[in-house]
Amino acid sequence: MQRHPLSGVEHSAATTSTQAVHAGEQRFRAHHSLTVPVVQSAVYTFDTTADLVNYTEDRLFWSEPEREEYGRYGNPTVRALEAKLAELEGAQDAIVVSSGMGAVTATLLLLLQPGQHFILTDNCYLSTLDFSQGFLKRYGVACTLTPFGDYDALEAAIRPETRLIFSESPTNPFMRCLDFERLTEIARRRNVLTVVDSTFATPYNLRPLQFGVDLVIHSLTKYLAGHNDAMGGVVAGRYDLTTPLRQMQGLLGNLLAPQNAYLILRGIKTLALRVEHQNCSALAIARFLEAQPKVRRVWYPLLESHPDHAVAAATLRGAGGVVSFEIDGDMERTHRFLDALRIPVIGPSLGGVESIVSPLALMGYASLPPEERLALGIRDELVRLCVGIEETTDLIADLSQALAQI
Ligand SMILES: *Cc1c(COP(=O)(O)O)cnc(C)c1O
Repeated sequence: MQRHPLSGVEHSAATTSTQAVHAGEQRFRAHHSLTVPVVQSAVYTFDTTADLVNYTEDRLFWSEPEREEYGRYGNPTVRALEAKLAELEGAQDAIVVSSGMGAVTATLLLLLQPGQHFILTDNCYLSTLDFSQGFLKRYGVACTLTPFGDYDALEAAIRPETRLIFSESPTNPFMRCLDFERLTEIARRRNVLTVVDSTFATPYNLRPLQFGVDLVIHSLTKYLAGHNDAMGGVVAGRYDLTTPLRQMQGLLGNLLAPQNAYLILRGIKTLALRVEHQNCSALAIARFLEAQPKVRRVWYPLLESHPDHAVAAATLRGAGGVVSFEIDGDMERTHRFLDALRIPVIGPSLGGVESIVSPLALMGYASLPPEERLALGIRDELVRLCVGIEETTDLIADLSQALAQI
C-alpha cells in the first residue's frame, strides 16, 4: 500500500494543516509532478504472465496489492484520497465511495443482516432516516429511533439482536452533539458497534475514532471537498470492518471517479484554513443572530443556550459553519428575509466556500406532510445558514440589512 511521507511524524491530537496538505501523497510521483496525477484508466496491464502470477498471489494473501488491475477494485488517485482521509481521521483505513449516502448505505448494508436491529438517534439527515426506516425493512432489518441526547432511552432500546448504534454529530439541522464517552461506554458494555456520521464536524474539529467509535462517515461533498463542485463519501475505521466493506464495494460498484477524487484531494488541502475561518465566522454570526429581536431562536453548539453546549465545548475544536435559526414570524416573513439577502444563495447543502441559506421546510423536508415536519422540529420559519468563507463582517452586515427589511 502507498505510504505517505508523514507516517511516523508526530502530530497534535487534532488534524493539522500539514496533514491536510501532505498526508496520503507519495513524495515522488510520475513525471515529477507535484500534484497527485488523475489516473484516468479503467484497465491496468501486466508485462508478463509472471507479473500476473505475483499480483494474484498478492491479492490472495494480502488484501491490498501494490498495483491496480481493474477500476472497480481500485484507482491510484482514489487511493491517495483514501490514504489522506485515513490519516486525517487517525484511522487504519478509509474507503471512498460515490457520495455521503453511498457511505451510509454501504455501511448499514454491510453490518446488518436480516433479523438484526439497530438504533438511530433522531434529528438526522432525512435520507438516512428514510433508508433506515423504509428501505432496510424489506431486508428484515429493524430500526429504533431514539431521542438525541437521551442515553437512558438509547440503552433501553438495545435488544439481543441489536448490532449497532448510528448517530450524527453535530446533527442536521439542530447541531446536537454526542457525549462520546457515554455513547461508547454503553456500546462497549452492551457489545454493539458505533457508527458516527461526522460530516458537520470534519476531522479538523472532531475525530470520533479517538473516543472509541468503531466507524466514522463523512459526506465528502460538504466541507472536505469544500467547493460545492464534487460529490463523494468516506467510511473510516479499523481494517476488520473496512476490509469487508472494500470487498463489498468491488461487488456493488459504489465508486468515486478519479476526476472527483482529484477535486476532493485538492479541496482538502485548504480544509484547516477554511474550517478555522468558518468556525470563527459562524460563532460570531450565531452570537449576532441571538441578539436580534426578529430572531426567535438560534441553534449553535458553542452558544451557552444550546442544549449540548457543555459536551460541544469539551470535545469540539470549533463547531463548524452551520447556524440554524427561526425568524420570529411566519413563513411569509421568513421568505421575505431570505429574498432580501444579497450574499448567501438559496439552495441545499453546506460546507463549501459560498454561504448558502436553506428554508428547510421547503428544502429537504418538503416531501413530508406538515405535521411530520413539525414532529421533527422543522417549522416554516426555520432557516439553516451554512457559512462560507466570505468576510464575517460582510455576512453580518447582509443579515442585518435583510432583517431590517422585515
Ligand atoms: C449531505 C449529508 C449526507 C449525504 O451526503 P451526499 O454526499 O449528499 O450523499 C449524509 N449525512 C450528512 C450529515 C449530510 O450532511
